[in-house]
Amino acid sequence: MKETYNINEKGYYGEFGGAYIPEMLYPNVEELRQNYLKIMAEPSFQKEFHALLKDYVGRPSPLYFAQRLSEKYNTKIYLKREDLNHTGAHKINNTVGQILMAQRLGKTRIIAETGAGQHGVATATVCALMGIECVVYMGEKDIARQAPNVARMKMLGAKVVPALSGSRTLKDATNEAMRDWINNPVNTHYIVGSVVGPHPFPDMVARFQAIVSEEIKSQLLEKEGTENPDYLIACVGGGSNAAGTYYHYLDNETVKIIAVEAAGLGIDSGESAATSVLGKEGIIHGSKTLLMQTKDGQITEPYSISAGLDYPGVGPMHANLYKTGRAEFIAITDDEAMTAGLELSQLEGIIPAIETSHALAIFEHKTFKPNDIIVLNLSGRGDKDLQNYIDYFKL
Ligand SMILES: *Cc1c(COP(=O)(O)O)cnc(C)c1O
Repeated sequence: MKETYNINEKGYYGEFGGAYIPEMLYPNVEELRQNYLKIMAEPSFQKEFHALLKDYVGRPSPLYFAQRLSEKYNTKIYLKREDLNHTGAHKINNTVGQILMAQRLGKTRIIAETGAGQHGVATATVCALMGIECVVYMGEKDIARQAPNVARMKMLGAKVVPALSGSRTLKDATNEAMRDWINNPVNTHYIVGSVVGPHPFPDMVARFQAIVSEEIKSQLLEKEGTENPDYLIACVGGGSNAAGTYYHYLDNETVKIIAVEAAGLGIDSGESAATSVLGKEGIIHGSKTLLMQTKDGQITEPYSISAGLDYPGVGPMHANLYKTGRAEFIAITDDEAMTAGLELSQLEGIIPAIETSHALAIFEHKTFKPNDIIVLNLSGRGDKDLQNYIDYFKL
């Protein structure tokens, strides 16, 4: 059999993935596992999903040739404009898919976890769209740090529940959401926000985000006469925008893959979120993957200036891409990312999310050939990060 970097029938990418869950969560996850591919294959599902992506999200997102950025780095850079989606990032592709999934499974209540609040907002958005009850778990510390997104969720009609345990951040919110799901197995669907969690979540989320690479193929064919770029570049938090960017190219090794992680204050600083480099194999939120942990297996608190990249794990697809060498992983510091974000703003008139700024900093790290065709996923817009940019650059 041909080697694949996609998931196998058992729910693994190489040695990573699977479903390491408490017995009490088994019925929920099993119901989803048995139904998700069947439901996604239904013509009525596909029709409704694509209609919403078109008319509600605003897809296809443009593939934009960044002329001045390309000139500066003497190579050909295309930006996939996920920042132009409704709610300002790629996350809505996944939440639209999962709300339709929930409806077909007969679920009447949605729960989600959120760190910076972006996934919470994307979830609250589709719940409002469908008129479904929405509860978002969020670390108490994050609630205080991310007031505008908390306000957005409330305005959209969601209930935001503080997670008071542990470090009171994302991983604790995720634990609370799992607990809720165990207690509400029949009526509730848990909308996981990235390609993480027990199988089938990583695969399901990757399939919903795969619209990104599906569009890249046809858009690049139109602009360059080929479906295949030389390089694909995306930032990796949990890894959903990256999974979407890579999806249809995973097994085409003529297309090189670069994954950009957040080095925070520096890989060796103790204040970092560069999961693949610093991580070891372990189990987090039901999945076997690479995660940052102490010698005795305690999950360490990640740090990045970008709230969307500071997850202590990484999705199992990416753990496998790292382990096999299929993707090149590069870690970018806070300072490098902020500088790259300012540069894109002034060269192209596009203010990127700080997560995306990490991916953009690649051009100071690595030299590409003049004829290389590069597609970089512009995962989100920078409006949500304006205060961070203001504080950093004293604007
Ligand atoms: C949440 C977020 C990310 C990180 O999440 P992934 O699942 O790794 O894609 C990246 N960029 C933006 C704009 C985000 O909002």
